[in-house]
Amino acid sequence: ACSGCITSAETVMLEKQSLEEFLSNLSKGKAVIVSVSPQSRASIAVHFGLSSLQVLTKLTTFFKSLGVKAVFDTSSSRDLTLTESCNEFITRYKQSNSINDEKSKLALPMISSACPGWICYAEKTLGSYVLPYISSVKSPQQIIGAAIKSHICQKLCLRAEEIYHVTVMPCYDKKLEAARDDFVFQVDSDSEGITEVDSVLTTGEVLDLIQSKSVDFTTLEESPVDKLLSNVDKEGRIYGVRGSSGGYADTVFRHAAKMLFAKEIEGPLRFKTIRNSDFQEVTLEVDGKTVLKFALCYGFRNLRNIVTKIKTGKCDYHFLEIMACPSGCLNGGGQIKPKPGQSAKDLIQLLENTYSENVLVTDPFENPLIKSLYNEWLEQPGSEKAKRHLHTVYHPVVKSITSQLQNW
Ligand code: SF4
Repeated sequence: ACSGCITSAETVMLEKQSLEEFLSNLSKGKAVIVSVSPQSRASIAVHFGLSSLQVLTKLTTFFKSLGVKAVFDTSSSRDLTLTESCNEFITRYKQSNSINDEKSKLALPMISSACPGWICYAEKTLGSYVLPYISSVKSPQQIIGAAIKSHICQKLCLRAEEIYHVTVMPCYDKKLEAARDDFVFQVDSDSEGITEVDSVLTTGEVLDLIQSKSVDFTTLEESPVDKLLSNVDKEGRIYGVRGSSGGYADTVFRHAAKMLFAKEIEGPLRFKTIRNSDFQEVTLEVDGKTVLKFALCYGFRNLRNIVTKIKTGKCDYHFLEIMACPSGCLNGGGQIKPKPGQSAKDLIQLLENTYSENVLVTDPFENPLIKSLYNEWLEQPGSEKAKRHLHTVYHPVVKSITSQLQNW
């Protein structure tokens, strides 16, 4: 199901490397920190018949029994990704309505950037036609890495180089993302580069690990969640957003409606299915004019159509949430496979239900953890510090004319 940036031979190699590397780093003297994605939690929850929160608390017990220092939750860094994305969208929207220069033409549509399968395809195949439209905000995986190694490490009384940071993700392409040079930073000019994410385990690899240790995961004791970077409140509820791939379109739409047009939208947004359930749009009209037009666009079939429109100047969307996998990250290639007799469709439905169960839908700007990260560390969305730690750049891959023509 995954995006196709990685071949199956590379997948086998990466799988082997990751688990061995993770286990060997547990005894190398570094503090190992694990950050778990909400899509992986949902996959493990469905497999064992547990709730997402139980999976987080049991994974905390499991990883700590192996010597891990802290277990965090990437839905917390997703909320930082969302606040920065909202801020970037407002800037781009205003830019698109200002003087008609080259910059204003490239401001919209803004395209989400959390899916490395999509980024890899855009860099390799689409280059400068599309890259300027992709949001500069890093993905939740990279943002939690930046937060841990630039800020949270001080609270743990550790230096960044003393930490080995592992993420648990629904997707093999996240391994490629973690290995990008763009995600290595320097504390000072003499020091070695610090990698935001040292290695990535897929959800399936974590299941293999649990099984290899002969642990009965269902009856495993639950440990308190590490609060420094987790979206869990005092009552044990998980802060979340609507939508299984991160809720980008939903959150940015509500924020833009409020900030640009003074419209507070209550309840779920009314997405309209366009070609299929993986291509949906939502609009806001003010005085009979469509002022916001957003789309969710999942899977290569849909995204190829939309990039053709962008390339030919016929795309009238203001924002696109693009994900390479049909049905988004819950269906990522690194997730646990369906059980015998279970259809892929039934599994996705179960994952969707589990993912949104007991989630307290919250505006990321109101998340107390996010507020404290801005207060203590980043100042405000879009600040110089936020740009340095939470934003990135993309690189067109230069190819021969022949191969470019073949792609179109
Ligand atoms: Fe990975 Fe999600 Fe993109 Fe699929 S949609 S390639 S799982 S990030």
